[in-house]
Amino acid sequence: MRPVFQPCLINGPFGDPGLHVDVLFERRALLFDLGDIAALPPRKILRTSHVFVTHTHMDHFVGFDRLLRLCLGRERPLCLYGPAGFIERVHHKLAAFTWNLVENYAVDLTVTACEVSADMTRLQSATFNSRERFARRDGRDAQLHAGLLLEEPAFQVRCVVLDHQVPCLGFALQEGAHVNVWRNRLEELALAPGPWLKGLKRAVLDGAPDDTPIEARWQEGGVVFGRTVSLGLLRERAIQCVAGEKLVYVSDVAFHAENARRIVELATGADLLFIEAMFLEEDAAAAQRKFHLTAQQAGSIARAAGARALIPFHFSPRYAHCEPRLRAEAQAAFGGVVT
Ligand SMILES: [Zn+2]
Repeated sequence: MRPVFQPCLINGPFGDPGLHVDVLFERRALLFDLGDIAALPPRKILRTSHVFVTHTHMDHFVGFDRLLRLCLGRERPLCLYGPAGFIERVHHKLAAFTWNLVENYAVDLTVTACEVSADMTRLQSATFNSRERFARRDGRDAQLHAGLLLEEPAFQVRCVVLDHQVPCLGFALQEGAHVNVWRNRLEELALAPGPWLKGLKRAVLDGAPDDTPIEARWQEGGVVFGRTVSLGLLRERAIQCVAGEKLVYVSDVAFHAENARRIVELATGADLLFIEAMFLEEDAAAAQRKFHLTAQQAGSIARAAGARALIPFHFSPRYAHCEPRLRAEAQAAFGGVVT
């Protein structure tokens, strides 16, 4: 099955961090980190509905202006998530421009900024609307459950608070499970496909009990056929549930036991783990001073998480002449596929 998420690092491994993820069948995209996004074509930027910012060091947030500029006049709202202090950062960004003519746009743009408290218990939000010249309106202060930021039928996004001397978020994008229906096995049960399969899939995904009645109805030559079957029978005979894809993005973290534990928990079973690897292990002292990982540390975390593939990035420019060494080091510690 074709993966629903189409991830692409916006810049090379030495450029500003940023991951653009197109969501197939939804005509939209998610962004993880917001460094320099000049390399992204405007049509891709315009598809962005949600942006997840690890922290607001310049190389992770400088792309805000370009994103905003392109989205002005766009109908779809823009929602950004970040760590403690994030709403104030967004507010200041918006307050840095003069908005006296913004009312001339045919449609108004709503920017919502959400921030995760440092103890990961609260999610605070504020909205800024172009019609009001982006004045700040504080919204709900909600409880945050297990880091769940966004839950939609197709996927969910979770976060974890990590330490980069400042709070820094790591993100996991998890696709919902797929329910595959075997056509031939339906035939064995004297059933045929129809719109009823949608309800069946919903019942499976909602974890409905086996005795749930499913109304299987379909049309053939204008005649309606069908009968009621139990979900249990269909579960046993005609369907297969497959876990969705999991993609994890971690950038800018100190190497210590608590960070490693939290990243491993977030990234367990990830299909793709994007993780910073700024230094070589021989420069571990510099990595520690700057609250970053070495390639070896990134590889060992990926291994502990049981990730299927590792994509190290955010390399220090000091290694521009020896990029393969960083990858080789990450690969040796990880022991799996490094791309
Ligand atoms: Zn940083």
